[in-house]
Amino acid sequence: MSQQECLFCKIIKREIPGEIVYEDDQVLAFNDIAPQAPTHILVIPKTHITTLNDIEESQQALVGRLTYIAAKLAKERGFAEDGYRVVMNCNEQGGQTVYHIHLHLMGGRHFTWPAG
Ligand code: AMP
Ligand code: ZN
Repeated sequence: MSQQECLFCKIIKREIPGEIVYEDDQVLAFNDIAPQAPTHILVIPKTHITTLNDIEESQQALVGRLTYIAAKLAKERGFAEDGYRVVMNCNEQGGQTVYHIHLHLMGGRHFTWPAG
């Protein structure tokens, strides 16, 4: 799929709606359309990166920023101390369905491990 057709690039460009909860020059965060927890936010880089396998060495800080912003949002929402789950799925066996990397931030309920 080309970058022009990428669902999350379209949300970044406001071509399709998203419930945006955070934005800076590098990162966008918005509510997941099918939440798996009381809070379920997707944190994405504004640069299109297809999968975790495609992260370039020069993009390490950008991808690290996704985790920093996730923790910031968890603190703001008051569940950081109780705990939360962060997930990034890669490719078909990892359960990836949207091919623009995204960090799932899920909080507000108890999670078990190992996940299915
Ligand atoms: P993954 O399966 O890890 O690729 O996660 C993709 C996530 O994107 C799923 O949790 C979907 O519910 C979510 N999703 C798909 N389309 C949209 C959309 N238009 N707005 C917000 N979240 C979406
Ligand atoms: Zn994209």
